Amino acid sequence: MPAAEPTSSTDSKNERIAALVRDTVGAAPVHANRYRSTWAGLLTDEAVGQTPRVAGWVHRRRDHGGLIFVDLRDRSGLLQVVFDPATCGADVFQAAERIRPEHVISAEGELTLRGPEHVNPKMLTGTVELRATSLDVLAEAETPPFPVDEDGPVDELLRLQHRVIDLRREHTRDALLLRSRIVRAIRDAMEDEGFLDIETPYLTRSTPEGARDFLVPSRLQAGSFYALPQSPQLFKQLFMVAGLDRYYQVVRCFRDEDLRADRQPEFTQLDAELSFVDEDDVIAIFERVMARAFVAGGLDLPRPAWERMPYDEAVLRYGNDRPDRRFGLEIQELSEALSTTEFKVFAGTLSSGGVVRGINAGGLTVPRKQLDELTDIAKKAGAGGLVWGFVEPDGSWRSPIAKFLTPEEIEAIKTTLSASPGDLLLIVADKAPVAANVLGVLRLELADRFDLREDRNDVLWIVDFPMFEGTAGDGTNLGGGRWDAVHHPFTQPCAPGGAPVSAEDLAPGGAFNDDETTPGDLHSRAYDLVVNGWEVGGGSIRVNRPDQQRAILDLLGFSAEEADEQFGFLLDALKAGAPPHGGIAFGVDRLAALCAGRDSLRDVIAFPKTSSGGDPLTGAPAPVDTKQLGDLGLRSTIAPPQG
Ligand code: ASP
Repeated sequence: MPAAEPTSSTDSKNERIAALVRDTVGAAPVHANRYRSTWAGLLTDEAVGQTPRVAGWVHRRRDHGGLIFVDLRDRSGLLQVVFDPATCGADVFQAAERIRPEHVISAEGELTLRGPEHVNPKMLTGTVELRATSLDVLAEAETPPFPVDEDGPVDELLRLQHRVIDLRREHTRDALLLRSRIVRAIRDAMEDEGFLDIETPYLTRSTPEGARDFLVPSRLQAGSFYALPQSPQLFKQLFMVAGLDRYYQVVRCFRDEDLRADRQPEFTQLDAELSFVDEDDVIAIFERVMARAFVAGGLDLPRPAWERMPYDEAVLRYGNDRPDRRFGLEIQELSEALSTTEFKVFAGTLSSGGVVRGINAGGLTVPRKQLDELTDIAKKAGAGGLVWGFVEPDGSWRSPIAKFLTPEEIEAIKTTLSASPGDLLLIVADKAPVAANVLGVLRLELADRFDLREDRNDVLWIVDFPMFEGTAGDGTNLGGGRWDAVHHPFTQPCAPGGAPVSAEDLAPGGAFNDDETTPGDLHSRAYDLVVNGWEVGGGSIRVNRPDQQRAILDLLGFSAEEADEQFGFLLDALKAGAPPHGGIAFGVDRLAALCAGRDSLRDVIAFPKTSSGGDPLTGAPAPVDTKQLGDLGLRSTIAPPQG
């Protein structure tokens, strides 16, 4: 887990977010009661002369020669409250002397202008102050484990352990308020587009989205388990068969995966499904919905229609299907230029069906030690090695492999990579999927290390996905590999170019399953939305014929019995007359993190999990006693931790 949160380099972004957040808070008036008559953080010159009552936490308290100044904090921000014995009387003043940071108070008084020398331009309420005439201390507080009134870095574990205190801090609070604003915009947009909000169960059967399931043991049927949904995929398809066209939900999904900064075991999706649609219909609607979400979140993106890039092109040029195009360093194919090389490593790779690809990293100063680090990164990403070469002023190469290449080959590489003197060239020879992945990883690494990203936002759709991916290293199912669905098994396959395929085409001996073609040649009707290198959403047009669905499950290795056992309810539904349908899901946490400019999803989730899946606040997950396990018909083989 990273030790600290981001700080001041994001100041202007934070201010922009704070302004959006205030806008949200301001849209909701407080109904006056005995605690308060208004939000404290929104009082400005216009309210001078009024006598508002405000309530909140003591953010800061200062004693100044017979006056006490309190910055009172509520959800909307801060307001300076002044206790002057001449105005509030001795009793109130004495009470004000006793209050400490984080005490909860309510105060009333006249709102006045501050003297010019006391104006604080950093506060929205910086020109005014409340001259208190009364004070109620509603609750006292112990000294917090870290200051609430500073946004300085605090160890993340400590922040998560004391999340209540952390949520009071501006940086954390604003991210959640921004998230609320985005979700509201999404819901408004979905309702305007005519979608119905219908719930699906959490205690259900496994949905194959490619991750492990979280299981919940059943007490009433001991020995059996529910799976928490990896997504409501099958239920939303059942809604379409049922005629409940245009479904949506802002819904929690659960996937038991190894965690990274951009993953959480439970996360929120905007999930949707529509009937009688093609890709263009889904994309058009969700460009409108997402544009509204991004406006609400303050993310400055080009207006729709957004560019669409085929999957193959994305992988070739950027090394993966979620390209970050805010910097160059595009990958180039060098196989052609080197087709006659005698350099063993390249020649061997090419003759066994592999590729040679490279990137021109530009005129970066990369000392030997960093080159070794990049080589290690390439190896970790699956490469046998990494070839590097610097172009010298005379056009020759400084590279360990320079002596193995002819001047013509060096020239051809330079031309393909548009290289000039001083440029660093990085080259990988491997199976195509490995070379793509390795160079994609190196691209991102260089962008991080050398701060190469332009200060702009980028959005695009990835389309024309392959339907299946082989688990063998070369992307086939040879040598003990099998086929996996790239999106999920309910996605409609098509021929390259989009022509429909039938169940017979998929069956052994069919057009995509004979000696010449394999299921790996199939494309699918899937689409992903990518923003700044993050996959923020994805979906597809679905299979709506039972024979085709069976053929796909068969290709994925499900026997007819297994298919019936696990997906019988879907196959039956497809027999009941299923309309052409399709849908999509967006990661709400990712959208919020992108808009808030945070690298970690933990920053936009109120109570997130750490990278080991724990919640430092509640201590979950925790062992349970033997009796509770016994009630569920379970016995643990792992001794509970001591103490
Ligand atoms: N169920 C898919 C997912 O969670 C989204 C979809 O196909 O609609 O990624």
